[in-house]
Parts: sequence; C-alpha cells; structure tokens
Amino acid sequence: MTISDIQQKIKDSSARAVIENALKLADEKSEYHALLSLTAERALRRADDIDSGKIVGKLAGVPFVVKDNFLAFGAPTTAASKMLEDFNAPLQATAVEKLEAEGAICIGKSNLDAFAHGGSTENSAFRPTKNAVDRTKVAGGSSGGSAVITALDVVPFALGSDTGGSIRQPASFNGVVGVKPTYGAVSRYGVVAMASSTDTIGVFTQNIADAEVVMDIMAGQDERDMTTLPDFFEIQNDLKPNQKIGLISDFMTDDVDGDVREKINKYADKLRQNGHIIEEVKLPMAEYALAMYYIIVPAEICSNLARYDGIRYGLRAENAINLAEVYGKTRDEGFVTENKRRIMIGSFVLSSGFFDAYYLKAQKARTLLINEFNKLFTSYDVLIGPVTPTTAFGLGENTSDPIKMYLGDIMTVPTSLAGLPAISVPAGMDKTGLPVGVQLIGPMKSDAKLLSLAKSLEDK
Ligand code: GLN
Repeated sequence: MTISDIQQKIKDSSARAVIENALKLADEKSEYHALLSLTAERALRRADDIDSGKIVGKLAGVPFVVKDNFLAFGAPTTAASKMLEDFNAPLQATAVEKLEAEGAICIGKSNLDAFAHGGSTENSAFRPTKNAVDRTKVAGGSSGGSAVITALDVVPFALGSDTGGSIRQPASFNGVVGVKPTYGAVSRYGVVAMASSTDTIGVFTQNIADAEVVMDIMAGQDERDMTTLPDFFEIQNDLKPNQKIGLISDFMTDDVDGDVREKINKYADKLRQNGHIIEEVKLPMAEYALAMYYIIVPAEICSNLARYDGIRYGLRAENAINLAEVYGKTRDEGFVTENKRRIMIGSFVLSSGFFDAYYLKAQKARTLLINEFNKLFTSYDVLIGPVTPTTAFGLGENTSDPIKMYLGDIMTVPTSLAGLPAISVPAGMDKTGLPVGVQLIGPMKSDAKLLSLAKSLEDK
C-alpha cells in the first residue's frame, strides 16, 4: 500500500485502526527478523492524537519504520550492537522529528549490520534479516530491515542510512525504491555516525511518488548538522525531455551477472523509447573507488567509534580491574568482528608512518574521482548502471569472506565518495525470480530530477 492508499484507509476507518493493522502485520512477518523492536505504545498514543485532531499534517497517521541507528523514542536505539543494546535515546533524529511533525507514526526500529558496517544485515549482533522475496537469501544491507519491511508491505516507507550503498543495495535486493540523497540534503543529526564524510539519510518506498513526498519533508538545513545544505528539494512536475544519459560501461563488464546486465540494458531501452539519448560512458577512476572507500571509511569509523569507551553511555564490561580493561573488555564485547576489523584498518591507515601512503593518497584519488564525475555531468544529465554485480546471495554464503563482501559495494561507493545523489529503482527479476535494481546517478542537488525521471518510466 502506498501513502495515498493508507491515507484513504485512515479516512475510511481511523489512524488507530491503520496503526493496529501495521503492528499486526509486523508481528505476522516477524520470522523475517526485519525489526528489532516495535514502538507500539507510543505509536498507538500518537494515532489517538491524530484521530482526536490533536496532531495534523501531510502524513497524519501514516506508519513508518526507522533503521535502528536513528535515535527515536519508544524503544532502545541499538545500532544492532551489544554496545547500545539498552541505550534509550534522550532525543530524536531530525529526520524522525520532521516526519513526526507532519503526523507520521513510527511503529518500529529495523535491523541492520551492527553500526551499519556491512552489506547483508548478517553483521547484526542479534540476528540476520531474511530477504523479502526468498527467505534463504540475504536482505542486503546495511539497511536490510528497512528494505524488507517496506517490500513486505508492512509500512509504505522506512528510513535508512547510506554510507557506501546501504540504502541502494538492499532496495535492489528486495525490489523496492531506495533513495540515497546528495550528501548534506538531509540532516544526520541523531543518527549513529559511521563515516561522517559519506553518511547520508534516505528512504525506502514502494513507488517513486512516495519517495518524493518523504524526501520533501526530510530535506533541508539543520543548525545541528553543519554539513546540511539549504533546502533544494522540490518535487518536479515536468520532466525534462530528451535527456542525455550515460550508461557507465565500467559497471557492465563480464564480472557482473548476465541477468543483471540484461535488465540494465532493458531499462536503457525504455529510456530510449521515451525519447532520451543513451550513450556509453567511461568512469576509469571507479576501478579505484573501492580501495579509496575501504581506507577513508574505516579511518572515519575508527574516529567515530572511539566514543564507545564504556564510560559515557552504552555497555560497560563487568569484572574489569583497571581503566584499560574497562575500555578493552567493553569494546571487545560491544563490537562485532566487522566493527573491530574496521577499527583496526582505520587505526592503521591513520597511523603516523602510513597516513601519507594510505589516507592522504586515498583522499587525493577521491578528488580525481569527483573530477571525473563532474566532467561527465557537463555532457550528461544522468548516469545509469547496475546497483550491485549480483542479485541477493544466500544467507551465510559470503560471511567468512570480507573481501568478497566488499567487492559487492563496487558500484555504490563511487557516488558515496563523491557525495552524489543516487537512487535504486526496481528493474525486473533475474531468472530465479530475484529482484534487480537499476541505479540512477545525478550531479549534486539533482535528487528531485532523478526521481522524476524514474517516475516517468515507472510501470512502463
Ligand atoms: N556495504 C558498505 C559497507 O560495508 C556500505 C555500508 C553503508 O552504507 N552503511 O561499508
């Protein structure tokens, strides 16, 4: 059900009936492990306030879910980690506050890879989420729970964070729309930090129109996040005709599943049939994007995770006999293996002997990648390509091979490093019936234009 279907239902019955139904559905689908908690009590109270007219707004009574790395009231904010298992947020993320100000109702918190490190939701300290289409496959990640709960039609939209693909990849794996906005479009305030220079806040929906509505509400400057941009998001009612679109050939090599490439080519054909011009383009620096990402992002992770020391909030290990042990034991118990791996890599690339060779070099290469994108956008409106090299893989299939996991991020991290908006749109199924997503990438602040282009092709 889309947002407008839900709004009709609220008119016909009540916000309480709609929220009760969403909670019931969430319960029925609990075997997918998409949610870590329900915020039922608070949600029903808000529903009553809507039915009595105390709360009004554009999304009055519409249920949604937030990834459990967003601070929100009504349940703990765990980031799917033992570190924050019992952490109750003292405030709410700006994105959540803005949606609540329009009457939307958060019904639960979704599962993720602990601290958003991963691409399958198998790094959750609690349990992996199952794919909405095939329960033997991964949900994708790190925002796997939000993607699955949207795909299962429990809620019309769910929030996620995307640092290197965590919205786009699970959207693609579960056949829903996923929006990773321009860096700074939506406030990161109140969201557990992963890598501050690429963290973005976005949304999963069942169709493009709903993504537009939610982005319109969430976007805008926030004095509590100094990287936010003045609001530039405006829903586009007219589509620019005859757009010039570059198909990134570096993403269409033999390393990418034939089925995936076929769906991307089909989408390109559809664009062509609708009057747009498609040309193959090259993005040579993309080859190095993964190497840059897995230097820069762990460096930022290791700084951001330093705050979990067992002293200020969250877990504190018992039986520590001195301060060093408090730190050590807490961090050992509170983090999953992948968190620790990234702290180690980050500490290494930032260490005095290696800073220039790794971190600084990666930042310089990042500038070259950004320049390449900028150059392409002088001739092209939009770039397209796959989101991932494969469709959803089997649960447990890649868990012992971190490099293989990282390779899955090859087509999502370039845009993250460049701060560009990129969306994942359903583009059909592979031969086994698993969803394939197409990625639409635009220049900075072209978020609304990307959505309007995708909308013009929806259901065609
Ligand atoms: N899969 C990527 C990683 O593991 C992206 C994670 C994210 O965007 N949060 O870093």
